[in-house]
Amino acid sequence: MNAPLRPLAIRMHPDDNVAIIANDGGLPAGTVMPEGPAAGLILRDKVPQGHKVALTDIAAGQAVLRYNVPVGYAREAVAAGSWVHERLLDIPPARELQGLPMATQPAPAWAPLAGYTFEGYVNADGSVGTRNLLAITTTVQCVAGVVKIAVERIERELLPLYPNVDGVVGLEHGYGCGVAIDAPGAEIPIRTLRNISLNPNFGGEVMVVSLGCEKLQPSRLLPPGSFPIHDAREAEQGPDLVCLQDDEHVGFMSMIDDIVQRAQAHLQRLNARQRQTVPASALVVGVQCGGSDAFSGVTANPAVGHMADLIVRAGGTVMFSENTEVRDAVEQLTRRAANAQVAQDIVRELGWYDAYLDRGRADRTANTTPGNKAGGLSNIAEKAMGSIIKSGSGAIASVLAPGEKLRPDQKGLVFAATPASDFICGTLQLAAGMNLHVFTTGRGTPYGLQACPVIKVATRSDLARRWHDLMDFNAGQIADGTMTIEEAGQALFEMLLATASGKKTWAEQWQLHNALVLFNPAPIT
Ligand code: CA
Repeated sequence: MNAPLRPLAIRMHPDDNVAIIANDGGLPAGTVMPEGPAAGLILRDKVPQGHKVALTDIAAGQAVLRYNVPVGYAREAVAAGSWVHERLLDIPPARELQGLPMATQPAPAWAPLAGYTFEGYVNADGSVGTRNLLAITTTVQCVAGVVKIAVERIERELLPLYPNVDGVVGLEHGYGCGVAIDAPGAEIPIRTLRNISLNPNFGGEVMVVSLGCEKLQPSRLLPPGSFPIHDAREAEQGPDLVCLQDDEHVGFMSMIDDIVQRAQAHLQRLNARQRQTVPASALVVGVQCGGSDAFSGVTANPAVGHMADLIVRAGGTVMFSENTEVRDAVEQLTRRAANAQVAQDIVRELGWYDAYLDRGRADRTANTTPGNKAGGLSNIAEKAMGSIIKSGSGAIASVLAPGEKLRPDQKGLVFAATPASDFICGTLQLAAGMNLHVFTTGRGTPYGLQACPVIKVATRSDLARRWHDLMDFNAGQIADGTMTIEEAGQALFEMLLATASGKKTWAEQWQLHNALVLFNPAPIT
């Protein structure tokens, strides 16, 4: 856990003309770099931690290479030893989506990884839960307050009677009415809500609370054939439904009583379930980063990438997402596609997203926050190179559009196309069927989800020390030189299996969770 005492610069590729400073607090001007790629270099400026230093003289207009990719072009001549900050760089244009290499890179020849298991809840559809939660689906925001109070009563009065049930989740959201529900794009929030109610951590139990007059009617949210059936009534009438505007509800308490009473049958079935030993191939892991810094792409994301390779080798599923954070690396993604169709699907999703941003008169450069820049990430091109490392080195086996659900046979590495917003990405990965979430952060975020454990990975030891009871794993050990990327990836993989088996994350211990946030590209009325 000790930060390097000797000045240390980390270069990602031998051809890079910049490296980043690893030391806590950065390094003062005049520092002589003792070893490594910058040996003998004298710093001309104070360089903050995570920021870039020029390893050679860089001419005006010349490419600044990190990961052997231009992350910008120098606006003026930059002398070796200078701090290369974002004001010195022009961002390269986005790669055209035509003429890309399509599925040209052979898949790595990996030996399968056998013998890893976890204790999970096997569902009727073959999916596996890592938690045993009762979810209450809602059709519209109008019912959220009522559902919140009903959930509190279920937790207080019923949960003690059903000790195998881990909790109750009210699936609150902002959609359902006041929206152009037939407009192009409206299918995204609708299928997202449908597929979240079918998440493996909810055990195939579907219970719906609706208002009655809303645009998103229960039969549209969960049409016949889209949900699991337990009895003849569900087969005939649809999923278990409490409609607040029904005549039978006289007064507020009758609504609450009705929801609480209906929950009992679901809780009984959930409570009868037991964890059982399943192979690691049942993992469906969503990876994401948020509050990134320049270490994200040096420590945490490479460790997560190695972990992703282990999951793929074990026959499991890893989803990576965040369209604007992969857009600048599109060429690497289409090259890694398992076949030409998958490469075309990647182009289709990123092209759709380009057009979506264009409609809002924005582009990918709207990504990167003040915190990203303070952490050393000059622009989205640099951020993207560090972001896609989370996906490891496997072949991309398939692509999901926003809100789509994985089919049982969709194993391996999956590009689930989503916006990069932490909450929207997490919500869409839940809809895709994620049963475990890995989240890397450099600046720090207390992010959590109620429906699924979130393992948070710190990029720097300083963050891991300060947020010792929020960060689950310290990938800063890689920059400190006390752990290799491979060791960190293996340790993360083993932490995933323990967490999938029931070990609580810090976010779960504190009951920290963020709201579900739907991606709705369609108009509001
Ligand atoms: Ca994110």
